[in-house]
Amino acid sequence: MREFEIKITLSTAKKTIPPFDRLEFGRTFTDHMFIWDYTEGKGWHDPRIVPYQPITLDPAATVFHYGQTVFEGLKAYHTKDEQILLFRPDQNMSRLNKSNDRLCIPHIDEELAVSALKQLINIDRDWIPTAEGTSLYVRPFIIATEPYLGVAPSRNYQFMIILSPVGAYYKEGINPVKIAVESDFVRAVAGGTGNAKTGGNYAGSLKASENASKNGYSQVLWLDGKEKQYIEEVGSMNIFFKINGEVITPEINGSILEGITRKSIIELLRYWNIPVVERRISIDEIQQAYHDGLLEEAFGTGTAAVISPIGEFFWQNEKLVINNGETGKLSKKIYDSLTGIQYGTEPDPFGWTVRL
Ligand SMILES: *Cc1c(COP(=O)(O)O)cnc(C)c1O
Repeated sequence: MREFEIKITLSTAKKTIPPFDRLEFGRTFTDHMFIWDYTEGKGWHDPRIVPYQPITLDPAATVFHYGQTVFEGLKAYHTKDEQILLFRPDQNMSRLNKSNDRLCIPHIDEELAVSALKQLINIDRDWIPTAEGTSLYVRPFIIATEPYLGVAPSRNYQFMIILSPVGAYYKEGINPVKIAVESDFVRAVAGGTGNAKTGGNYAGSLKASENASKNGYSQVLWLDGKEKQYIEEVGSMNIFFKINGEVITPEINGSILEGITRKSIIELLRYWNIPVVERRISIDEIQQAYHDGLLEEAFGTGTAAVISPIGEFFWQNEKLVINNGETGKLSKKIYDSLTGIQYGTEPDPFGWTVRL
């Protein structure tokens, strides 16, 4: 690891750390943040850790008008022996650069970003909750800051990292969710920005989620933007099915976000010699498998939940109830193994975790 010069200004007014059993996702932030500026002609400069604070931007800043922005999400975990582990942070920084490519944002030095992340977490390490299932959520992001109303790539940017302690995703054991298959709206199209982690994708998905929740469904299943037939993702997670003993996940096609959890689960399944394929799969095929009694499990995957089992799909006025609406065996096994690696209670044969 190269050494990086990151200027550190410590906060003189430390906040009170809230009780960890009452944390709501993404509403509490730690004492410090990381900032790094980009100026055209100068490149990325002045990486620094400063007290957590509001930022001042020109109202004409490009990000407000045309959404030139990207983000990442990962977690830091407290182990039983007082260590702090990160899960594949290099993957997040390389994906951030892929998103940067798509949004015409200049590349960052991934190694510097990981180093900054580690230093920031170390400074705010008292904020990492210790109870089972809790973690520190890490949000790196980049915004276009040039005051300019023309539609063009900004000349200036800011990269920031903020940290938020989060409670256990599953407080009362893993709970399967009910999912409405979305037949009107689409999340992404081939050639669009679906494979980049950029704000607009999420703004565009709110309406469908809102409609689904009015009908008692916690998220939507997204179909492809062209034929509205092939399965893409579930909410803001990747999706897996277990059909007749085989695990299937939609292949990376340009509109699906390439999840690090998804990738890790595929590697884990191969390690276990459980058949797993990445291919196009239609909602009709799922419905057919269901009627044939072959649809054994379905689950969403992402950093926040790791695994989110799906207990029911609503599609064409029919409720497809999977595994009696209960968490499947494989879903549970993957959840236990992955969280075991992340919290350091299980061996990590893949070398995925990084010690702070
Ligand atoms: C972040 C994200 C995922 C999951 O990615 P992970 O790296 O596993 O957290 C999946 N789909 C969408 C749309 C996402 O934004």
